[in-house]
This record gives sequence, C-alpha cells and structure tokens, in this order.
Amino acid sequence: MKEFVTADDIRALAEQGERELMVREHTTLTDAALDAARMHGVRLVEGGATSQPQPAGDAVAALPVTPGGLPAPALAGLVREQAAAGRREQGGSRPSAPGGEPIEGPPDIGSLQTKLLIDGGWSDAAGGETVPTIDPATNHTIVDVAAAGPQDIDRAVRAAREALPAWRDMEPEKRSRILLRIAELIEADRDRLARIESHDVGKPIREAALVDLPACWDPWRFYQGLVRVIDGRVLAMPTSSLDYVRKEPMGVVGMIIPWNFPLHIACRKGSAALAAGNTVVLKAPELAPLTCLELGRIALEAGLPPGVLNVVPGLGATAGAALAEHPGVDKIAFTGSTVTGRTVMRAGAGTIKRVSLELGGKSPSIVFADADLERAVIGSVFGIYLAQGEVCSAGSRVLVERPVYDEFVRRFADKAAGIRVGMPHRWSTQLGALINERQCQRVYEYVEIGKAEGATVVAGGVRPPDPELAGGNFIEPTIFAGTNDMRIAQEEIFGPVVVIVPFDGEEEAVRIANDVRYGLAAGIWTSDVGRAHRVAHRLEAGSIWVNQYGVYPSEAPFGGYKESGTGYDLGLESLSEYLETKNIHLNIGTDTLDWYGS
Ligand code: NAD
Repeated sequence: MKEFVTADDIRALAEQGERELMVREHTTLTDAALDAARMHGVRLVEGGATSQPQPAGDAVAALPVTPGGLPAPALAGLVREQAAAGRREQGGSRPSAPGGEPIEGPPDIGSLQTKLLIDGGWSDAAGGETVPTIDPATNHTIVDVAAAGPQDIDRAVRAAREALPAWRDMEPEKRSRILLRIAELIEADRDRLARIESHDVGKPIREAALVDLPACWDPWRFYQGLVRVIDGRVLAMPTSSLDYVRKEPMGVVGMIIPWNFPLHIACRKGSAALAAGNTVVLKAPELAPLTCLELGRIALEAGLPPGVLNVVPGLGATAGAALAEHPGVDKIAFTGSTVTGRTVMRAGAGTIKRVSLELGGKSPSIVFADADLERAVIGSVFGIYLAQGEVCSAGSRVLVERPVYDEFVRRFADKAAGIRVGMPHRWSTQLGALINERQCQRVYEYVEIGKAEGATVVAGGVRPPDPELAGGNFIEPTIFAGTNDMRIAQEEIFGPVVVIVPFDGEEEAVRIANDVRYGLAAGIWTSDVGRAHRVAHRLEAGSIWVNQYGVYPSEAPFGGYKESGTGYDLGLESLSEYLETKNIHLNIGTDTLDWYGS
C-alpha cells in the first residue's frame, strides 16, 4: 500500500470495484482522499494484527477545543499528532508526523529550484544576477538564487498577459480541477516542503510541517470550490430593461510577499487570484525564495498552463519596484512592512492599479481578571513565540487586568522558560533562528531600548548558551514588564519579544489596545460572554480571537485596520479583491427614447 493516498488513488480503486482500503500506521490520506472515500463508499480498514475495521467516517475525528490558536487545518494536524503521542504513552506506536515519522534535517540541496520561472520555463536572470539565500541558523549560504531585474519582470508580465485570455475563459470545472491538483501535490510533498521552509526561514521544522504546510494547501482547496460559484446578479428594473452585474478577473496580478511565511502567503494569495481567473507574477522574497519556486514547479506539474503563474525572486528595490510600477500589471497584492507598503502604493498610483496591502502589527492579547488564567497563559505564549515572533499578527503586547497581573507574569515566564530554543531542523525545537543577522541585531537593539526606557526584563533578551547555536541568529524568549507608551510597546519588533502591560477595567483595556497605529488582530481572554462581544466590537483590528489566539481558517477574511493595511487575504472577501465589477444594461423593450426628436 502507498504511504500517501490521494483522491485520484481512491477513485482508481473504486473504478476497479474495490470497496476497502487497508490503512497502515504510516499511511497518510489527503483530505480530498477522505472525501473521495466517503463519496465512492470505500471503507478505510486499519491494518495490523490487533486493529478493528473502521467506517470511513471515523477517519475524520471531531477536533477538541485547544487553548492555543492555530490555522484550522494545522490544528487538525497537531491534534492527530497529540492523539498518536497519547497512544504511544499507552504502549502504542511512535507518534505519526505529517508523512509518517517526525522529519529532521535539511532538504536535499541539489534538488532545489534556483531559477526564474517565466512562461513555463526555468531561466537565469537576463543580467545573470544571483542572490544567495542564507541559512538563519548558521549564516552560511544555502544556495545562490537567480535575481530578477526589470527586464525579467517585463518578460514575466508579458507572459502573464499572453496567458490571460485562455486561463480567464477556461471552463470553471477544468480550472477548479487544476487548483485542486495543486492542493494535492502540496500535501503529497509536505515533508520536503517543510524541510525547505524550515531551512530557508529558520523556523522549527515541526512548525513548518504542522502549522505552515496545512495552511498552504487548504486555501487551494477552499478557492477551487469557489471557482464554480463566482456569479453576478440581475437588478430589479422595468420590464423594458435587463440590467445585470458581472464579475470579471482583473487581469495580471503582481504579488510581492515577505519571508516569514513565504509559501503560505503565496498560496493564500495565489489560490484566490487564480480562482478568480487572473494570471500572476509572484515576486518571491529575496531572504527566503525557495518554497515559492517549489510552488511554481508544483503548479506546472498540476497542469497549470505556462505563463499563468510566473515566479520571480529578486531584490525589493529592483524586482519588487519594477513589478509595482509595471504598466502591464492591473493589481498589486502586497504583504510586508508598512514602510514598503507605502512605497508600493505610490508606485501603483502611476497607472491607478488596484492595490491591496497586508502590513505590520502590534497586536494585543487582552487578559481580564475573570479569564481562565491557564488558557490565557498558554494562548498568549503561543501568540508571541510562534515563528520566533516574526508574525504580522503576533500578540506582542499582552494587556493584563491588574488584580491578576503579577500572577500572570509569573506563570507566563514559567511557560516561556520551557520553550526549547534550538536548531530549526530538529523535530524537538520549538523556537528557531531569526531570518538574518540584521533582523537579529535589530531585535537586540529593541531589548536595549526597552531597558533604557525603564521596562523590566522579566526573562530573556540574551543569546541562548548552547554553543551549537553560536553561529546563528538566536535569542531567548524575551519578556518585558512595561507600559503602553514605551517604544517597545508601540513599534513592531518582529521577534520573540513581548511587553506585558497592566490595566484597570474594560474602558482602559480598550483604550490601551487601540492606542497604536496598527490594527491587525487582537485576543480577548474572559469568561464573561457579554464583555467578550462588547470589547470585540470596540477594538480597531481586523481579526479578533476570543479565548484563543492566532486562528486563520481559509474561510475567514484576514486584513488590517489603520496602518495594518487595506484589503483582505482569505475568505470570500479575498476572491472579491481579484474581481472587477461590470454593469451591463440592455434595452429589451420596443420603445426608443428620442431625446432630440421633438
Ligand atoms: P518588507 O516590506 O521588507 O518586504 C516585503 C516584500 O517587499 C519583499 O518581497 C521585498 O523584496 C519587497 N520590497 C522591498 N522593497 C520594495 C520596493 N521598494 N518595491 C516593491 N517591493 C519591495 O517586509 P519583510 O521584512 O519581508 O516582512 C516583514 C514585514 O511583513 C513585517 O512588517 C510584517 O508585519 C509584515 N507581514 C504582514 C503580514 C500580513 O498579513 N499583514 C503577513 C506577514 C508579514
């Protein structure tokens, strides 16, 4: 039996008249395969001497509620892993990681894509430029990657423009199938992709495999379904008129994305844009371009026609700027810092491009005295330390009601002290390396700024003592006790640094939470359901989580208030971001209004 089973495998079995599939310990079924099993009546039977046959429906167990937040599909992955660990404690087998065993170690460097993908072909940059991508854990070069210049960007935009009519006019069913196939291939390649992402970004491999990857294939599944429900509406008009609203793709979309979740962000934007019938030029981040190139390879394998998705890594100031101002680009979808977002918005103004911006944040996790403190600690620790705190929606300010402040700080510090900082490629590692030396330096500078402005260092702010980590960009989980007016509470640090701020009562909580220029996300911890809604309604932020932190289902729109951006990723809202609205009015009556006739 294959280790990895897709929906196509199930369909093939059903066509051969098979009604059972033997599932062994390391067999992984894609979500689509589970659906196909249900649809075709193929029962999943656990292999092994002691196991009992299971109905297919049991394969997808209901998810228990967990205190920390995660992308919904990632949650499923972790819950399965925890369940397997539980079985092991009871004398069962080893825990099952994504593709079977926990994965460790770097990817096979020789197999990495390093060229530009334009019009379905791999090529060097026209000027031959390359930029090394660096391993954040050692600061050694992983590999040199072609760096696009303006000429390459122009070629990619032309290819996308040429591919547009056929892709836009393809039958929805066919377009939808290709997007579903991309989801399946990403899922099938999860171990390799997790290795690459972890190595290139410096994030723990366990996180790449269980948090990032499910959040990479899921948007493709979500938007492939929506391809077939894009519609318009007919307006109520006199019988002499037919007036309808039609949704059309915008055309060529330029995507510019950051290095912290490169594959996830490329997937969540790319799936929506392609589902809407656009073609794409993806400017991969220069600091971590490798998985975006893998996405290009996978898209071709899935049958995406040449030119529909072009992937061009390169420097922001050259490749990014050339894409943002290219007259052949109809829309720019940008994720990155607020500073660069402003530049991109200005660059798009030349040809009045549609521009959506997902920018920075300084999000609060607000803990009321009536909250379940244990859950609030677990969720708030998760909210700041996931991905080394290099997360736009990181809960980098924790606001705690004064009666429980001291106890919360103590318990938060105890929890953070247990986080295992280590080499990203080890399955046991929980906090990896910051993206590069410059970013690491910047985080240490903020530690000094915090001290200078009178904040108390509760923990961290120093390099971990482990000599194995000496060559990389590491810092211990850092906790400050401070006030909201401090720079460390106002500016995006983008590292594992949290400021815990006391407050008195609901009014002050809302005032402090909103007292920043950003407005991306917020967490609320309370047992009072009325308060949860009251506070949620008054927070100036795009995503609010109650009694959890950091959940990003593909169904839910994600976007910022204030300087955190404009427009959305994910949800139905994101599909609309890639569609133009056209109104068509027909005279179907027999009369003609002759204005100048009398
Ligand atoms: P960045 O703004 O430096 O770079 C983002 C992208 O823009 C990169 O691909 C870069 O090459 C490109 N770029 C740089 N200069 C450019 C220019 N002049 N013209 C066009 N493109 C240019 O951000 P980063 O350091 O890669 O990422 C970290 C930032 O991203 C943080 O501020 C973080 O909050 C934000 N972020 C936001 C979200 C969100 O959804 N809101 C998600 C992830 C990251």
